Amino acid sequence: MINITKSYLPPLEEYVKHLEGIWERVHLTNNGPLVRQLEEELKSYLGIEHLHFCSNGTIVLQMAIKALGLTKEIITTPFSYCASTHAILWENCTPVFADVRAEDFTIDPDKIEALITENTEAILATHVYGNLCQIDAIEALARKHNLKVIYDGAHSFGVTYKGKSALAYGDISTCSFHATKVFHTVEGGLVVSHDPEVTEKLNLYRSFGHRFDDYIDIGINGKNSEFHAAMGLCTLPKVPELIEARKHRFALYDTKLNTARLQRPVIQPGISYNYAYYPIVLESEAKLLEVKTALEQIQVNPRRYFYPSLNTLPFLKSTQPCPISEDIALRVLCLPMYPDLEEEVIDQVCTIVNKLL
Ligand SMILES: *Cc1c(COP(=O)(O)O)cnc(C)c1O
Repeated sequence: MINITKSYLPPLEEYVKHLEGIWERVHLTNNGPLVRQLEEELKSYLGIEHLHFCSNGTIVLQMAIKALGLTKEIITTPFSYCASTHAILWENCTPVFADVRAEDFTIDPDKIEALITENTEAILATHVYGNLCQIDAIEALARKHNLKVIYDGAHSFGVTYKGKSALAYGDISTCSFHATKVFHTVEGGLVVSHDPEVTEKLNLYRSFGHRFDDYIDIGINGKNSEFHAAMGLCTLPKVPELIEARKHRFALYDTKLNTARLQRPVIQPGISYNYAYYPIVLESEAKLLEVKTALEQIQVNPRRYFYPSLNTLPFLKSTQPCPISEDIALRVLCLPMYPDLEEEVIDQVCTIVNKLL
């Protein structure tokens, strides 16, 4: 079965070398030497001063909301993975959904302002498929209305904007290092902050909120292990070549698909892109289901991603209409995209999609 993504695995010997060190030290978790080394390497790769390697890309969103002291309304995007809305709800805040831009499915800054009330405390926006939000417009709104900004950068590892990592923006940016992402540590997450007080809180929250016998605040267990850090240390140096390999496959899809008959998100000018996903937007949900079934018949498993539009989640107490997001979520399908995807598979996929268009 060909899935939408396939995890990169480093040569086994490289990972085993780290395992030997772990066996010698018998230090398995709790801020071990490999976790600290990975954090140093991430700081230098990303050009970021303050970051914390954590257990996954969901808990870092929860920690971010808590560290910024948010308790009320957070304006957020309906076009994201459910974790970004769930984190808001889990922290007992209220998500308020602003619809997305038709060109790249990121939150529309023009729709944010009308939703700001006296209870609005923050904007939580997602960089979609590695395409970045309208960072400048969002920062301007945040400054004008005194709001905090959190970016869910789960898709944006390796993307840069104005010469800086995408993860350097906002009051807090988060990333997921899940096995399906561009850079992974099997399970893992990253939280980036700039304010020393917020950074200190994140550090504390990651380890239960206490320091030795000093019980300071309500924390959680957001730590990650030496085994996960070891995977990151093996994989991080490969990221530039992995992104190159993705870029090549991305270009193959671009030339082989009948893109005149498909809608595709526009990659913004001025960013260096990571080619994280290859989404196509079909003319209708019926057409999407037809394409999906035909691909499954040749053992290819595309994914409805993102689906559903998060403003339609059944357990929300209140919501807002987001016609663009709702429409795109019904019609968007992500095709297989990973560094060693065979050209032959791309050919087969394109033939089937083109035939059904
Ligand atoms: C993958 C993903 C997450 C969740 O990350 P985990 O590491 O799986 O918890 C959150 N937001 C977005 C946009 C994602 O793609």
